[in-house]
Amino acid sequence: MNRTPIQDIEVNAVRIIGHIQGSARGPTLLFFGGIHGNEQSGVTALEHIFCELKEKPLPCNGSVYGIRGNLPALFQGKRFLEKDLNRLWTKSKIEKIRNKLDRYRSLEETELVILYDLISKILEKEQGPFYFIDLHTTSSKTLPFITINDALINRRFSKLFPVPIILGIEEYLDGPLLSFVNSKGYVSLGFESGQHTEETAIKNSIAFIWLTMAFSGFLNESKGLNFKKQYSQLQNSAEGNTSFYEIVYRHPIYDIGEFKMMEGFKSFDEVDEGTPLALENDKFLMTEKDTIIFMPLYQEQGEEGFFLIQKIPLLALALSAALRRIKFGSLLHILPGVSWANGEKDSLLVNTKIAQFFTKSFFHLLGYRKRVLDKTHFAMSNREHTAKNDMYRNTWWYRITTNKSIRG
Ligand SMILES: [Zn+2]
Repeated sequence: MNRTPIQDIEVNAVRIIGHIQGSARGPTLLFFGGIHGNEQSGVTALEHIFCELKEKPLPCNGSVYGIRGNLPALFQGKRFLEKDLNRLWTKSKIEKIRNKLDRYRSLEETELVILYDLISKILEKEQGPFYFIDLHTTSSKTLPFITINDALINRRFSKLFPVPIILGIEEYLDGPLLSFVNSKGYVSLGFESGQHTEETAIKNSIAFIWLTMAFSGFLNESKGLNFKKQYSQLQNSAEGNTSFYEIVYRHPIYDIGEFKMMEGFKSFDEVDEGTPLALENDKFLMTEKDTIIFMPLYQEQGEEGFFLIQKIPLLALALSAALRRIKFGSLLHILPGVSWANGEKDSLLVNTKIAQFFTKSFFHLLGYRKRVLDKTHFAMSNREHTAKNDMYRNTWWYRITTNKSIRG
């Protein structure tokens, strides 16, 4: 018997936590849980919601999928077994892995191929607009927060949720799943719901999933989901913090045995100048100025010891949105030391010797993100160039520039 791709998807009950096809046309939502195998909360939250929707169906439009990420690692409760599945999604790595014979692939490379094919089949079969949500947790205590690649569609959609938003993580991480999805131009949000094992992390994920279903228009009405309760769950957990932040520093770890985070830090803690953050190779790593700590590492696996972040002023956010709307970035190539990196004009080549007075923040403002090429050059690729704005233009949230009415 010939099976359609989607039948193949549905028989894979271990991979697919749930799939619901609404009665009318609407968005397609893809939720991922357990891309890191020690982060079970997202999977549990999705199981809970699909179970609830089965018992008490709600009227819905479009289609939703709940997908398990790294299956072998989830079974063992480890972040990964051979390679971090959330660092493999660059164009060149994907191509290389897909061209390998099965038997030469690592466990995570096999997972990547399966997920890649699944995503491709769903994109082929379903209608847009598409929403990709990747659910994670962190080893330290944290307020729940969203990470996005800084395209305006991501900013606008993520602003609807009452939690802090972190921009620009893609400059510091190589190959997370969502950077791949972003390169295709779809709305994609990473949601970090709390510390790995705490109950609140599950509750926050549940609230986040319900709200995504409501905001995207997948659910017809928010009556059945108790909107206020879900909204308050996130708002209270995030302690009312709805600021935008950007990452200013990433501390890489080369030998985990030589790195030990000092006890007691939580993401978003404000830290004074001169505070010891970690012990590395018998030396204290101390803050050089007042800062905010983000995702300090309290587990045995990971490539980042901690990040430092800073709040982005509201004025800068508004200005950057306005400049992008008038496509100001398309004039940057006339600056000294700046040229188009390719014929598609989606990225700029910057010679830092000549263009040293243009700061990274200046390019960020216009939607560019940096990739270092060599000592004197970096490439800035533009998030707006790939964003599929037309796909989202008719959604209710697309034209909202302020979210005051919702956050009240
Ligand atoms: Zn994770």
